[in-house]
Amino acid sequence: MTGPGSLAVRPLDPASRSEPRLAVDLGAVARNTRTLADRASGELMAVVKADGFGHGAVDVARTTLAHGATRLGVTSLAEAWVLRDAGLVAPILSWLNPVDADFPAAAVRDVDVAVPSLTHLAAVAAGPGRNRVHLHVDAGMARDGAEPEEWAALCRAARRAELRGQLEVVGVMGHLGCAEDPADDCNALGRTRFAWAVEAARGAGLRPRERHLAATAATLTDPRAHHTMSRVGAGLVGIDPSGTTVLEPAMTLTAPLVQVRRVRAGTPVGYRHAHRTTRATRLGLLPLGYADGLPRVASGRAEVLVRGTRCPVVGRISMDQVVVDLGRTGAEAGEQVTVFGPGAAGEPTVAEWAAWADTIEHEIVTGIGARVERRTLAAPYLRPLSTRSGA
Ligand SMILES: *Cc1c(COP(=O)(O)O)cnc(C)c1O
Repeated sequence: MTGPGSLAVRPLDPASRSEPRLAVDLGAVARNTRTLADRASGELMAVVKADGFGHGAVDVARTTLAHGATRLGVTSLAEAWVLRDAGLVAPILSWLNPVDADFPAAAVRDVDVAVPSLTHLAAVAAGPGRNRVHLHVDAGMARDGAEPEEWAALCRAARRAELRGQLEVVGVMGHLGCAEDPADDCNALGRTRFAWAVEAARGAGLRPRERHLAATAATLTDPRAHHTMSRVGAGLVGIDPSGTTVLEPAMTLTAPLVQVRRVRAGTPVGYRHAHRTTRATRLGLLPLGYADGLPRVASGRAEVLVRGTRCPVVGRISMDQVVVDLGRTGAEAGEQVTVFGPGAAGEPTVAEWAAWADTIEHEIVTGIGARVERRTLAAPYLRPLSTRSGA
């Protein structure tokens, strides 16, 4: 009750509070999943590492499983536990773990693990559980996976462990280093090495029923890389590294103007006075900076959308804030500004931010800081997928 003399404070609707906010559109994720599932010859594994590329691992996992994905992929076992703790029962593969990772827990919690070396194989075999294993071959990046020199020995050791009942080899995996450029010779080399690795595994007596090489780019451009499954991450959230397919970005980042000031021509702005206004104008302050994922290197190039008009970010991007030259937009303190979004209203896209920062979209979407409030928009109902089995 509001008595006489007391201050009438209206209860604030938290939904209307103007904090910096990241909206994630799961409808876009659902539609992207369908596009990718249509293109993949085999099963679709939704890769939800790095918190679903910054979009929320559990939300992206649920959405993709409802729209064509049949499995989930993550790097670490810790990421797999998050999915299991949320009640997800779909098959999960975790492919990047140190040799002393908790492989017994993976067996108990029904999480498949990739094995990239003899040392890892020994650690997995030694545990009390019977892990499901995907042998991981380096298809030519000198990054993760077993070197070709070690592969034959790894297959033989895996077969021995299998015969002893210590583990079960269910898959062989590889990863292409240059798939965003389908014409690059490195892809043919990777495909050849992968085919050779599968044959070697069979020669050792293994029966890997899941054989997977393609990520988003090769899923969209090269059916020869599809095998029995595609592992896609970037494409789910609207990033096509191959630049061949229209996918929908799912993130929109907005922030309120916390202050607006009028300045004369020649006013220095921000640290080191990196910018000087060239005319009288109005400057707006946004409470977002490099700690929130706006790359500092984009200083002097980036733009935001204010009242339908692109306005430049001026001066250095600070840890917590940036200054925007509002020009003649007439924008006032408290108004929302769009930092990036799908681009439909003229706002900058994640792809533009990536270009301003000399990086790729992946780094922008995975880099949004923890203090930005997340808001998730549910996927609208879409017609159920027909079942593959016909049952
Ligand atoms: C991240 C990752 C993927 C997914 O790649 P996208 O290009 O994002 O689809 C697939 N496989 C491995 C091994 C990965 O690390």
